[in-house]
Amino acid sequence: MTTTTTPAVRFAGVTRHFGTVRAVDGVSFEVYDGEFFSMLGPSGSGKTTCLRMIAGFEQPTSGSITIHGREAAGVPPFERDVNTVFQDYALFPHMTVAQNIAYGPMLKRVGRAERERQVEEMLDLVRLPGYGGRKPAHLSGGQRQRVALARALINHPRVLLLDEPLGALDLKLRQEMQGELKAIQKRVGITFIYVTHDQEEALTMSDRVAVFSQGKIEQIGAPTEIYECPRTTFVAGFVGVSNIIGGDLAERLSGERITFAVRPEKIRMASPDAPVEHGAVSLTGRVAEVVYLGMHTRYIVDVDGGSQLTVAAQNLDATPGDALAARGRPVRLIWRREHIHPLAG
Ligand code: ATP
Repeated sequence: MTTTTTPAVRFAGVTRHFGTVRAVDGVSFEVYDGEFFSMLGPSGSGKTTCLRMIAGFEQPTSGSITIHGREAAGVPPFERDVNTVFQDYALFPHMTVAQNIAYGPMLKRVGRAERERQVEEMLDLVRLPGYGGRKPAHLSGGQRQRVALARALINHPRVLLLDEPLGALDLKLRQEMQGELKAIQKRVGITFIYVTHDQEEALTMSDRVAVFSQGKIEQIGAPTEIYECPRTTFVAGFVGVSNIIGGDLAERLSGERITFAVRPEKIRMASPDAPVEHGAVSLTGRVAEVVYLGMHTRYIVDVDGGSQLTVAAQNLDATPGDALAARGRPVRLIWRREHIHPLAG
């Protein structure tokens, strides 16, 4: 990982209002130089507005943005050391792939031979050698996205902004491109700031993720930290699946008056008389619903005392018949105390 602690981009108390809408509401964070940083959140949570403010297409209502230590206010988009890749590719349809990629150097009046050399280098980087003569219409979605990436990277920006760049691709291609994007980012070593509403995408590619909700950042951290230790009810529910436990049941299980999250895969489902290791959390209930999902099975359990918990169990030895036969069965749910994550609202 090429991450250092030099901030490439810094937000300090940034807000952006559109009339009465607080699109971005007092946001502070730093993106380190060379980092793959994702802004993850549902539609309308303010991610794109943050990205557009970094690019210079929007101005903050208040607060300050610095890019590589320089105050961004008043700096026009073309003078910022950033480039943007959009979901819709924005390729010029009448130009060939090579002409599209060479667009930036052409504006900078780079000589033809050097331009062609750079285009070849970029086509290699995005694994499209030999495609220079094609028109965008004769490429697949994934190939078009790679051309858009090459067209941005040829300008050697220090920061690349990517706004849901894989959103238009089908699942298989999207997963393939996630791996490629990460590999390209490692190879070129520049800062990637990536906007997505897809939690798996953010977890797969990022060094760190900022989770957005209603114009605010709920949590920033490494993917493992965000997933394993969600700090708010929103993050626990938006990133993966969580059981949120509050009220009397939470107090009974944890000994404290808190609300906490526990992941379905951290809960072991055993027979009601199974031994419980010292210090583990345990409660009894009855399987209400079974959903067989191939790789694992999801069990919905009615807990004694009136709550419902979801348990995920890998189908190691269980046949679909075994899994489905669990419906109606009394069970004991057991998990380790360290998998209890208190939530801050
Ligand atoms: P999406 O994933 O749908 O793009 P997002 O998280 O990127 O969502 P933003 O596009 O930043 O969210 O929008 C945040 C809020 O600001 C939304 O309520 C949106 O309607 C509003 N908004 C964004 N741009 C404008 C604008 N130019 N004028 C008015 N409201 C806007």
